[in-house]
Amino acid sequence: MYESMLTHIDAVTGSGKVIISANESTVVEIVMETIKSGRSASFYLTNDQAKAFKASYWTPERIKASKIQLISNDEKDRIKAELGVEVHSFRFSPIQCECGHIYGGFEFLQQGIREHGVNSVRAVFNLKNSMFLQANPTLVPICPNCDQMLGGDGGPDLGDLEYDCDQYVGCCIVEPDRPV
Ligand SMILES: [Zn+2]
Repeated sequence: MYESMLTHIDAVTGSGKVIISANESTVVEIVMETIKSGRSASFYLTNDQAKAFKASYWTPERIKASKIQLISNDEKDRIKAELGVEVHSFRFSPIQCECGHIYGGFEFLQQGIREHGVNSVRAVFNLKNSMFLQANPTLVPICPNCDQMLGGDGGPDLGDLEYDCDQYVGCCIVEPDRPV
């Protein structure tokens, strides 16, 4: 069992990714510190680690400050019908483009599919034992209405885009004026 796990770990590290193993509170602390530092990183957490992280990260003040909200059933239906991705309880903090268009959960997944393909996006939502979390993602949202990059130069000023759902820990972005 341990031997076969090492084989998998060896294959993943062979592809250039590091794996860190630590107890739950240490992992949650590492994720928190990464978010606060403003550095970009992706984490594949266990379900328990993701739960522990969400419990400490999403304080009522933070939820209020990030303006994260559940996407509507209409948007969920549109994501399923037009993008072919089924999402549950997806929460997103939309950004408004200067042209007036709202960049929400639909636009975000549409851009993700354009950049990574529908199978990769579906695979993230279908992870069974792990939850994907992006701290300070490098993605620059692009308005599908006017092709303008939202959030300027892709630096830390990415607007209010944060997301979270039951299948996915989502992404968390540090903003200097927000409580973390
Ligand atoms: Zn626009």
